[in-house]
Parts: sequence; C-alpha cells; structure tokens
Amino acid sequence: QQKQQEFVLRTLEERDIRFVRLWFTDVLGFLKQVAVAPAELEAAFSEGIGFDGSAIEGFARVYESDMLAKPDPSTFQILPWRSASPGAARIFCDILMPDGTPSYADPRYVLKRALARASELGFTFYCHPEIEFFLFEKQPGPGEKPVPIDPGGYFDYTPHRIAHDFRRQAITMLEAMGISVEFSHHEGAPGQQEIDLRYADALTTADNIMTFRLVMKEVALEQGVYASFMPKPFTEHPGSGMHTHVSLFEGDRNAFYEPGAEYQLSKVARSFIAGLLRHAGEITAVTNQWVNSYKRLLGGGEAPAYICWGHNNRSALVRVPMYKPQKGQSTRVEIRSLDSACNPYLAFAVILAAGLKGVEEGYELPPGAEDDVWSLTDAERRALGIEPLPQNLNEAIKLMERSELVAETLGEHVFDFFLRNKRAEWEEYRRQVTAFERDRYLPVL
Ligand code: GLN
Ligand code: MG
Ligand code: MG
Ligand code: MG
Repeated sequence: QQKQQEFVLRTLEERDIRFVRLWFTDVLGFLKQVAVAPAELEAAFSEGIGFDGSAIEGFARVYESDMLAKPDPSTFQILPWRSASPGAARIFCDILMPDGTPSYADPRYVLKRALARASELGFTFYCHPEIEFFLFEKQPGPGEKPVPIDPGGYFDYTPHRIAHDFRRQAITMLEAMGISVEFSHHEGAPGQQEIDLRYADALTTADNIMTFRLVMKEVALEQGVYASFMPKPFTEHPGSGMHTHVSLFEGDRNAFYEPGAEYQLSKVARSFIAGLLRHAGEITAVTNQWVNSYKRLLGGGEAPAYICWGHNNRSALVRVPMYKPQKGQSTRVEIRSLDSACNPYLAFAVILAAGLKGVEEGYELPPGAEDDVWSLTDAERRALGIEPLPQNLNEAIKLMERSELVAETLGEHVFDFFLRNKRAEWEEYRRQVTAFERDRYLPVL
C-alpha cells in the first residue's frame, strides 16, 4: 500500500497530471466522481476526502450524509482519452463513514465482504464478462427510436462502417488502462457489439466493468456515435447480456476442475452450480435490475428464461462450456442471466453467495438440460422440474424480499434501499399507458 501510494504520487508529478478523478459507484451501478488536485491526494490516501453522500443514490439518509472517499492506490490509471488534456488520472475509492469504518452503502464494500467470506473457505473468485452493447447513430431524443450504426449480424465484418474502427480504438484504450481484452466481435443485432474481458479476480473485474462502460461512452463520443448498455432496446432484436464466466481457485489450483469427472467438474463446481440454480430466482432482481431487463430475458435471442444448467446449451441459465482436456485450469461455468446494465459489484456478490451456499451445504446438482428449453412446452418443462426465471421486475422483487441470502449478502442498508427503489420503479412503470396499447386498442375499441 505504502509503495503503491508513493508510485502514484511520483507518477502524478512525472506525467504532469493536473486532475485526479476519484471514482466510486452508487447502489444502482452509476459511476460517480470527485476530481481533486494532485496535492490533495496524499491526504486522501491517509484520511479520505469528505463529500456529501446524501446526493448519491442509496448512500445515506440526510442526517448522516458526511462520507469519505478513500482512494485504493492499486487502481490508479492515467486516462487515455484525447479530451483529458492536461493529463488526468483515475483511482477507485472505498467509501468510509466519518469515523473511518467502511460504509455499508458502498457496493465495492458489499463485494469485498462477499469475497472475504469466500476467502475464509479458502477460495478466490475469478470472473470474466462478455459485455454486449449497442452503437447508435446518436442519442435518441424522448420517444425516438434509436438507429443502429450498421445492419450487421453475428461475427459480421462490416467494412467501411464504424463498428470495426470503434472496437479497435476502444480496445486500444482499454489496454492502455491495463484492462486486457480477450475477444471482440459484432453481435447478433444491428449495431450490437461484444467485447470480452480477460479473467481477473472479481473486484478487479467489477472495477474494470465500470471503467469499460465509461470508455465505450467516451470512444463513441469521439466517433460521433452513441453507446448504450440498455438491456433490450428493440422488440425485434436480441438484447445485451453480460454473460459471466466464473471459477473458484484454491491457491493456484482451479477448484472447479477434476480430471476424469463428468465434464471435468469437481464436487465444488457441481454444488456451486446447484447453489446458483436453487437461489436463481431471489438474486435475479440484482443481476437484472431494470423493468427493461425482463424484456430481454423473455425475448428469446439466446437469453435464458428458465432455471436450468446445461453442457453447451445456450438456452440454459448456467452453461458449462466445452472443456479443452489440456486446459483444466480454465474449467468454469457461464452464467447467462446478467445484463450489461447491472451493478457488477452487487451482481458478483450475490452470485458468489448463491454458489458458496451450495458448496457449504453440499447441494446436489440436478440433471442437466440438454434440450433447447425454449422449445419445450410448459408441461414438458414442469416434468423436468425446470422453473422459469422471474417474469418481470415485480416478481423478482417479491422473491428478493423473502431472501435471507440476499439480505445477508447486501447488508440491511443496501437491501432496503434497493428494494424501495425498485418497487418505486415498478409502480411508476405499471401505471404507464403504452404505445402498444394505443396501437392495439384504439383502432378496434
Ligand atoms: N445477446 C444474447 C443475450 O442477451 C446472447 C447472445 C450470445 O452471446 N450468444 O444473452
Ligand atoms: Mg460471447
Ligand atoms: Mg454474445
Ligand atoms: Mg456467452
């Protein structure tokens, strides 16, 4: 820590950085920042920088609004975008109460707590996300339909269009910020892109996702287009998921890997998946937090709508990718419900908690579904014991309200705030008279 702090302070001087942006994330997953002069940073490292938390979604009640942002020097990065001149850098912060204890409202702390639980059991938690998003010609005005930048589809190479340049510039920028990209391509819908980050520990990955979203918005701005992480902008096209591959390590050994076992899955992996399945309903409000998230889950397009796992089954909630026999260390499971607009800190925390619950209690893994579960009838699915995911935000909220696991993992404050906020969103939504209703009913009624 001391060494890292010194490195940061030295770099600020050497690189003539005039602004340091202190970053943190609110409960709904929006990035927040306070910019400080480099001279303030030394004090910030030791005591934190005070700010009024009552203005931040979910942070504090008005009478306890003083909070401190304490930079985590290991997350220091110089911002590579052109507009950042003179030089600017960013550091992620932990949020503290005035007495120096961690803030129970800080999503980063929620995830750190969940990771500490895992580490008590001897595990480190690794993630790698496949992040999907759309590029539109411009930010649509109210009531305007967004216009995708190209008509491309899955893996299409679209010459002379902006998507290719966009991905190249975006990836260069991510790499400049220490975020490794494994894979990128055009996704199934017009204008839809996917960029997959290399696996890292869950906290780093969550920080990286926050950075990623901002970098995509910045690059889009530079190229005169608009990037959006909205889960399902079009009725007729697939939405944007954030499939996340996860694994547990014990030291440098992949605890999901057992050579010779079915699909090379260890007992730990099997009961982790069982935990994900058994608690899937109650964590969905966190992994899919918007009214719109459920339009994606229920809209087909390779999004999961049913609680089951499968080997290489793209309609399943949890998929065990084809293993490469020589690569046991990469044994992992892919969770396909998350969307690109979740709060990654909270989503990773509840996923980890659900999986670990399975491991601790030794849950048995039910048989995998090798059929396309979308094409089965309700009766066939029932016969196989396959339940649907919550059908809308309201159902998801109802399941979360009763969940001890989620209450414990998020902590009382975040749990209550989140539910209050989401109930309000649902109430507002369900009163809306929509274009669908007017178009359908006015001509005939
Ligand atoms: N867009 C799909 C989803 O919403 C995923 C498509 C894919 O990566 N196969 O989950
Ligand atoms: Mg992919
Ligand atoms: Mg994809
Ligand atoms: Mg995938």
